[in-house]
Amino acid sequence: MNPKIFFTPGPAAIYPTVAQHTQNAFAEQIPSISHRSPAFQAIYQQTYENIREIFQLPDDYAVLFTGSATEVWERLLQNCVAHETFHLVNGSFSRRFYDFALLLNKMPHLHEVLWGQGFDLAQIEVPTNVEMICVTHNETSTGVSMPVADIHALKDRYPDKLLVVDMVSSAPIPMLDFTKIDAAYFSVQKAFGLPAGLGVWLVNRRCLEKAQTLEDQGQVTGTYHRLTNLWKSFEKFQTPPTPNVLGLYLLSKVTQDLLHKGIRQIRQETNTKAQLLYNAIEAMDGLEIFVKNPDHRSEVVVVANTQGNATELIQKLADQNMVIGSGYGQNKTSQIRVANFPATSLTEVEELLEIMQKTM
Ligand SMILES: *Cc1c(COP(=O)(O)O)cnc(C)c1O
Repeated sequence: MNPKIFFTPGPAAIYPTVAQHTQNAFAEQIPSISHRSPAFQAIYQQTYENIREIFQLPDDYAVLFTGSATEVWERLLQNCVAHETFHLVNGSFSRRFYDFALLLNKMPHLHEVLWGQGFDLAQIEVPTNVEMICVTHNETSTGVSMPVADIHALKDRYPDKLLVVDMVSSAPIPMLDFTKIDAAYFSVQKAFGLPAGLGVWLVNRRCLEKAQTLEDQGQVTGTYHRLTNLWKSFEKFQTPPTPNVLGLYLLSKVTQDLLHKGIRQIRQETNTKAQLLYNAIEAMDGLEIFVKNPDHRSEVVVVANTQGNATELIQKLADQNMVIGSGYGQNKTSQIRVANFPATSLTEVEELLEIMQKTM
């Protein structure tokens, strides 16, 4: 049987080196080491240094580990907000962060646009009392990406507010300027091509200071994973609870591989594959690119409307070992989503497009 090729947006194709790293991990008995041991601290430190280099993190940033990116939404709301947040919402994931803010009795302000659309900065007005602005770099449900220049411009307009970026499905591709944001976060089972089970939270000292202030004022900021506690552990390259040591080991190795290949090279390849995908899909009968404004099109999750039932097309491709994603939520049977992550090669993208052309 030929192996399947996954173009799903998460869980996604596994980065080609992961199987060998996993074997090595067991050979080195990594899953049995103590998370208080120097061996663990060395893995954490290596991962921190790699991530720091990939994202060009300033000195005042910590790299923290959680169960998933979903957890980071809760952590940010509990630790960095007393009363008010502001959310740019254009799909299911950005909406969920807003919903969490409601559940935690914050006062979230909503700036929402239709699915498939991005944001016009001129239309955005953040109220004075807002403490944290929440944006999503890559809305995985719709294939809309927010240009990094727009994210940075928000900080220039509102320098006193915390600016936090969901880069769950696009990291490590966007070149964010981390001096212009206060936190960003991702899960490893998307563009990093790792098995699920680890969230990564890049967070600066301003967020830590805010958490400390709120604690001093008596706000409940959480328990084992409150920011002050996570940061204290980070300073020893440890984690408060027993973490996903295997996942962390694999992240340390794959980030090393990405750096070895060159992060610029990876970003260039992603751009090349994205252009190929958009051009080919645009030319195909029966498919229509969902995001109309080219400036808002995601490089890493390409979404298209289907003329017929998307489920049939997805099944026909799956029969030929090409696994693409369905539409999200309300668009499940009317759209396809094709992930363009570093784990899939140009050749694989070309193979997919060839099979799609024959199948459409
Ligand atoms: C997948 C995803 C999340 C949630 O990630 P989990 O790993 O399920 O916690 C959040 N935001 C975006 C944009 C996502 O694509």
